[in-house]
Amino acid sequence: MNERYSRQILFREIGREGQEKLLNSRVLLVGCGALGASHAEMLARAGIGKLRIVDRDFVEYTNLQRQTLFKESDAENRLPKAVAARNRIAEINSEPQVEAIIADVNNSNIGQLIAGCDLVIDGTDNFQVRYLLNDACVKNGVTWIYGAAVSSYGTTMTIIPHKTPCLRCIFDEMPDAGSSPTCDTAGVIMPIIAIVSATQVVEALKVLVGDFDSLHGSLMHFDVWSNDRQRIKLGGPNADCKCCGQGVYEFLDAESQEFSAVLCGRNAVQIAPPRSAELDLAALADRLKFSVAVRVNEYLVRFAVGEYEMTVFRDGRAIVKGTDDVSTARSMYARYVGS
Ligand SMILES: [Zn+2]
Repeated sequence: MNERYSRQILFREIGREGQEKLLNSRVLLVGCGALGASHAEMLARAGIGKLRIVDRDFVEYTNLQRQTLFKESDAENRLPKAVAARNRIAEINSEPQVEAIIADVNNSNIGQLIAGCDLVIDGTDNFQVRYLLNDACVKNGVTWIYGAAVSSYGTTMTIIPHKTPCLRCIFDEMPDAGSSPTCDTAGVIMPIIAIVSATQVVEALKVLVGDFDSLHGSLMHFDVWSNDRQRIKLGGPNADCKCCGQGVYEFLDAESQEFSAVLCGRNAVQIAPPRSAELDLAALADRLKFSVAVRVNEYLVRFAVGEYEMTVFRDGRAIVKGTDDVSTARSMYARYVGS
């Protein structure tokens, strides 16, 4: 084992044996925004053997204030976050195998994403994906670590299926769309990201080295601006919980996926074909170049039409910026991508 991890090995609770376990671990990181980028960096530096990073978005200048892995050239080149994260991690620690997956997490791919992973760590920014993750992880018996941050406050808890409460034991119903503040409406400062991410990642390390007694066993809440910390000790799972108590996986078993989703607070709509496709981006750019100014890279095509900006990914998804109206976005998709 190389000297890179010597200080971590000196830390008795990890030690040589724990380091060996970390090197042989595989972690799924869902969402690579502010929390996700921070998790990714810490996990990669700690020597997690395999990291699977999934994210649907690309790097923008507004991300750089808090999303530590990314740099100006990533925003300039419109790199997908999963790819930019993989590139940066390779510079930090070339040992972990990093899989960068550019995709929207939904019930058609979540099973495949979780497969073979020892742990799932939450870096998403929305409850739809978290409830889906909760269903999938409980069903498959995979530990996952919930984390959320906005403004100056954040929350985290660690979910070990059937041993601790799951997300639905605590928050039975998903909050209504638009009812919670988001980073795009309430803003966010980086220190809360660092605290929530650090709390999630240290729990991940404990789980991966098998030190379950040291887990915090709580719903943790922090507000770094008002100097508030709360720790609500959790008991066992709730027998009445739909998910872990009754085994009803509403989100995982939902019939159909929404074709489109308003990206909360971003004045943008995502259009996703029900089944992911494999678009020929160069051909699409070729078709478009006569009517609009197109930018293309290996991962996406981007162009502007009037006040709208459209980004199309290889899996057939598109993000239409400049509107929160689904039908406008759909008609843009139909006109320029075709469906
Ligand atoms: Zn539950």
